[in-house]
Amino acid sequence: MSAYKVADAKNLIKLDAMENPYCWPEAIQQQWLETLKNSAINRYPDPEARILCDALRNSNRLPEESALLLGNGSDEIIQILLMALPQNASVIAPEPSFVMYKQIAQSLGLNYRGIPLLSDSFDLDLPAMLANINELQPALIFLAYPNNPTGNLFDAQAIKTIIASAPGLVVIDEAYAPFADSSFIDSLSDYNNLLVMRTVSKLGLAGLRLGYLIGPIALLEQLHKLRLPYNINCLTQVTAAFALNNADFLRQQTENIRQERSLVFNALQAIANIKPYSSSANFILFKTLGASADHVFNSLKQQGVLIKNLSRQGGVLENCLRVTVGKPEENQAFLKALQAALMLN
Ligand code: PMP
Repeated sequence: MSAYKVADAKNLIKLDAMENPYCWPEAIQQQWLETLKNSAINRYPDPEARILCDALRNSNRLPEESALLLGNGSDEIIQILLMALPQNASVIAPEPSFVMYKQIAQSLGLNYRGIPLLSDSFDLDLPAMLANINELQPALIFLAYPNNPTGNLFDAQAIKTIIASAPGLVVIDEAYAPFADSSFIDSLSDYNNLLVMRTVSKLGLAGLRLGYLIGPIALLEQLHKLRLPYNINCLTQVTAAFALNNADFLRQQTENIRQERSLVFNALQAIANIKPYSSSANFILFKTLGASADHVFNSLKQQGVLIKNLSRQGGVLENCLRVTVGKPEENQAFLKALQAALMLN
């Protein structure tokens, strides 16, 4: 195995990690600092994070009958879910998708299998998914909705067929929900094996490390047995609750990012030899048709712009790069550098 490497972005325009590029308005920041003053950092945090859970319930309009499990990022929730499985359990996820599903499953010695997405649309290969479910009887299936790194929403009907056919749990990972208009939260009451996972990272609070899992009380009760008692520190609890209760500015920032996403997509589409894939997230995957993605990636970096090179993963991602949608001026700098990189080829 190799560790999950994070590139050093010092002095670069950082468009590699799906972060919200905007800071907080001054007045909100002042109010937040006042709130922080009252934090009892000499005490352990509330192990149940009750105030934060209420804020999450309200802001996501969660069904009354569902329970919550919080994690130190959704990464930790993926780990908790996988730690809950028996040693010989199988885990399925489409590929390409979020790499931590495979990374953590394999590190725990579980039987992980990636099922290739359709190469033209990046949608689920439903017959292949069902055949593998039948063969492996997976204890857990991960489906990122929208998917990272492809940016698309899988067909919702296909997902429902998978949930109905699965002998175990199905986790719909809605990390990019702020940028999509579709969710499985309203379907939670229709299934007893469905869990929805979200994070505040892409909304603009990546530094807090807070993810959450929503699902049936009976299931989450079991997962809580594996959660470390104080996994959400008090500064995260206070800050996230404050931000969610004052979320208008975050919604505005999200809206700006969605508008910029269309502008960047159209600009990419207008560049010869670049094939962008339409996205319901805050990033865009694109293929370099005439030049190697490695060359384009390196040239962008030399010009001061850091994006993500996915080409090494091979398969459908050969010659693919992923750019996070940033501020207008960052996006313009990226597009200009991309054009220069293609000319230099
Ligand atoms: N799920 C998906 C699909 C992601 O792309 C990411 C981060 N890139 C995560 C989960 C993890 O998010 P976090 O740990 O920041 O909550």
